[in-house]
Amino acid sequence: MTSRGARRYVHIDGALRQMCQRCLGELEFPVSIDSMLVLAASQREIDREPIEVQGPDRIVGSRDMVVRELLEDELLLAVPFAPRHERCAARAKARDDGHRSPFEELRGMLGAKRSKQG
Ligand SMILES: [Zn+2]
Repeated sequence: MTSRGARRYVHIDGALRQMCQRCLGELEFPVSIDSMLVLAASQREIDREPIEVQGPDRIVGSRDMVVRELLEDELLLAVPFAPRHERCAARAKARDDGHRSPFEELRGMLGAKRSKQG
């Protein structure tokens, strides 16, 4: 039996609890995923077909595959590698204290160097 061409429509709406990588505080990351997956019996079957950039993602799976694993994979793809608050309290606090981030200092140094050259 083959599952060739079988499709799975994945719809996820919700929020994940993450840790902000800047202040280590709790961060609620909203997730909204709509994707269409085409199941293939093997990786060989996927490799045989030409890649369609606009086409649906093709994954190895069967009709009776575990849905939880499918959702887990989709969620992992949606979550940023280093989630951070959009307006992080740690960043605002550093500004109030007059501290500059290492990147801001580096930018300042680069700017000074450039103005000497130019
Ligand atoms: Zn934060």
